[in-house]
Amino acid sequence: MTRGVNSGTAFDVAIAGGGIVGAACALACAQRGMQVALVEADTLGSGATAAGMGHIVVMDDSEGQFALTRYSQQLWHSLAPTLPASAEYEQRGTLWIAADREEMDAAEKKCAWYSERSVPCELLTAAQLARIEPNLAGGLAGALLVPEDAVVYPPTVAFELARRAQQLGAQIFLGRAVRSIADGNVELEDGLQIVARRIVHALGADSTQLDPELPIRKRKGHLVITDRYPGFVHHQLVELGYLKSAHSTTGDSVAFNVQPRQTGQILIGSSRQFGAEHTETDPHIVNAMLARAVRYLPGIRALSAIRVWTGFRAATPDKLPLIGPDLRDPTVILATGHEGLGITTSLATAELVADHLTDRDSAIPATPYLPARYARAQSRQEEVYAMDWSHAGADHGIQ
Ligand SMILES: Cc1cc2nc3c(=O)[nH]c(=O)nc-3n(C[C@H](O)[C@H](O)[C@H](O)COP(=O)(O)OP(=O)(O)OC[C@H]3O[C@@H](n4cnc5c(N)ncnc54)[C@H](O)[C@@H]3O)c2cc1C
Repeated sequence: MTRGVNSGTAFDVAIAGGGIVGAACALACAQRGMQVALVEADTLGSGATAAGMGHIVVMDDSEGQFALTRYSQQLWHSLAPTLPASAEYEQRGTLWIAADREEMDAAEKKCAWYSERSVPCELLTAAQLARIEPNLAGGLAGALLVPEDAVVYPPTVAFELARRAQQLGAQIFLGRAVRSIADGNVELEDGLQIVARRIVHALGADSTQLDPELPIRKRKGHLVITDRYPGFVHHQLVELGYLKSAHSTTGDSVAFNVQPRQTGQILIGSSRQFGAEHTETDPHIVNAMLARAVRYLPGIRALSAIRVWTGFRAATPDKLPLIGPDLRDPTVILATGHEGLGITTSLATAELVADHLTDRDSAIPATPYLPARYARAQSRQEEVYAMDWSHAGADHGIQ
């Protein structure tokens, strides 16, 4: 038997998934006066949100990716002063490291592209780079500094956003798994049925468990964290070499991506793998990641690593998330598929979702993220999502 909740009244919106995206959606909707239900199978922020690096980064792979990351970064700037200290928000800036002349050319192009779009950035010579990050290897060509990029501890933020939503009246269902969502009904594994005018599907990499037709694949990532070494690095350090995809042999790839945590710990990333769906760490991937880190930061060899973990990104074929109505069920709004940028883009995603639900214009065009871009008519009555993964191997992600 199923039971209705909320005294038999429908919620305005029920959100499936309490990662940073679901939690941000819950707050944005509650702030607009909606009656919100948020359902999370585990604890808030326990999925990819807990596994991620927390680098809030403006990106330039496409105009759509730029618009979403930049808008969201600005929302983070506004949110940051109100976050608790445990969110560990710090505007560290990103240093895109150029190993050689070819990569310096890429840094210059990146700088011009950002400057045209009013993103502050600065090219650094090899000597300037060595002065601000003395632990970097010698012989590097220089770097691009993007000072407005930041670092945060994502699970704390997910919890904080959900807490604020709850203060505005949202009901939160924790430790309760969703079994199905359709036609304004969210059915939980325990039989509870939540009735809502609209449902936000924010299940991240688990999205296809509920809806196998979605154009989403799991992309595994590894991270290593060290003991505390305050001042070892000062910025988020990312190699520009990832543009060449030179370190990808079997479709797996690693890139040098290192982050200083407020605790003094160093977070070392990162790897990307399709088709590895087990949570165990893969020693050959960890070794490749660490070898890459040593190449850029030779002193890292002497630091103690205290933990290694894995997590799963929700990858789409065009590397843009799915944000907007599900063409097969008008009661469902998708907010998933954020791959390696879901911490960065969570706040903008929530605004787009809330704008859609309240019929408001958004600060940026919503079109690049609409799920309808994958629409393929199967028959006159029925539509499905078409999945063309032929471009997904080209690796232009960093996290
Ligand atoms: C190694 C790694 C590094 C990363 N680094 C960065 C970074 O530096 N910057 C950045 O912007 N992004 C980064 N990301 C990406 C980022 O972590 C994700 O894009 C983001 O966390 C996605 O948030 P989400 O809320 O969509 O998904 P999740 O956090 O996975 O949340 C989905 C939630 O749904 C819940 N759930 C699943 N099934 C059910 C069900 N049936 N019923 C109810 N609840 C359910 C899960 O328990 C989970 O809490 C990284 C990811 C990885 C793996």
